[in-house]
Amino acid sequence: MLRKVKRIKLGKQIYRRLMKRVLERDGWRCRKCGSLENLQIHHKIKRSQQGNDSLDNLVTLCAYCHLAEHGQLGYEKSAAEVLEKTVKRGRRLHWSSL
Ligand SMILES: [Zn+2]
Repeated sequence: MLRKVKRIKLGKQIYRRLMKRVLERDGWRCRKCGSLENLQIHHKIKRSQQGNDSLDNLVTLCAYCHLAEHGQLGYEKSAAEVLEKTVKRGRRLHWSSL
């Protein structure tokens, strides 16, 4: 997505930190089926419905359960993929600093 939209939204790095916190809180498992693979972060309340990027509104789901939640094909990258890219860029993020 290359659209330039001015919205109050968390920066990518901050979002990744938040994602990690959600994953750690949920023990790196899908909250529905317990899967350890293809994990994604699901917004319980969609951003478009005033949902925000807080820990309370985020939950770890695998791609399949996430798909079931939305009733459509998932478009989000897996959490592992997103976090892996962060690491490749030089470990600039320190999760413990939050
Ligand atoms: Zn699942």
